[in-house]
Amino acid sequence: MTLTPPVPKGFRFPDIEEHLFRKLGPVLRASFGEQVARISLDGGYTCPNRDGTLASGGCTYCGEGSRALIPRAGSISRQFLESVSFRKERAFIAYFQSFSGTYAPLDVLQRQWREARSLPGVVGLAISTRPDCLPKPVIRELARLANELPLWIELGLESADDATLRRINRAHDVNCFVEAAGQLADAGIPVVAHLIFGLPQEPDDAPQRAISLINGLPVWGLKIHPFHVVRGAPIARAWERGKLSLKSRDWYVDQAADALTRLRPDIVVHRITGSGAGPKHLAPDWAVQTKKLYSDIERRLRKRNLRQGALI
Ligand code: SF4
Repeated sequence: MTLTPPVPKGFRFPDIEEHLFRKLGPVLRASFGEQVARISLDGGYTCPNRDGTLASGGCTYCGEGSRALIPRAGSISRQFLESVSFRKERAFIAYFQSFSGTYAPLDVLQRQWREARSLPGVVGLAISTRPDCLPKPVIRELARLANELPLWIELGLESADDATLRRINRAHDVNCFVEAAGQLADAGIPVVAHLIFGLPQEPDDAPQRAISLINGLPVWGLKIHPFHVVRGAPIARAWERGKLSLKSRDWYVDQAADALTRLRPDIVVHRITGSGAGPKHLAPDWAVQTKKLYSDIERRLRKRNLRQGALI
């Protein structure tokens, strides 16, 4: 397995001296000369952890609901044009965010990716998926695309602790993620890892162990968000019965700031906050104030006079 992470085609990496960590926004601006917006698209996929292939309940925190594959011709363009009609940016990453973005027959994926890349203003593709949804023909197609345009794959790890992955019913283990990240990198495809901090019953040192694991993998980017409960997720029932203990805001700010100080300096940070969408979000309350949370994490770094990678 290569240890050098592939980066999206043509990307530039500005010096991070003026920032506390390597944020995606400045990387996109340096690469395209303007602000770039990600436009979320739903390819109509489902997920093997929901459709009965691996399990039917899904991850315990997942509020996506279940459905059958509905790949409608033209729907990608419609979604995209509706979303960009009220955006001020003129350059876009088409982002296949919902469910498992590679869980469909190859010809369906090829058609949708072709449609997405031909849309006005689209400068690149991002595809979010599970590490066990990457058959060889799909990796080959992604490698071909990554050679032609900026592209990255977002891969859910969520926790580097197998016991936690079992508890949240991820239906894959840490090794599955390690192997998938290696296969993608070997094929020249940039990988963005997803982590959740504060998963129920996870040991307090789990986030920092996850960062150590990521540092040793050919990963180009990282997304972190606090564990939160959304309406419709299996775990929402435990929260509604008062049986779920959630981490405090202070704990999260500390862990996120610590994670950045221990993160390899070349890794691009795509996100350090996150919450459920609008009324779907149930708890914790503080997670929805993402801007405030973001600035408090930066403040924590400034107070400690530390930046990304300072404590490696
Ligand atoms: S979180 Fe993702 S992998 Fe888990 S059940 Fe939901 S769609 Fe599937």
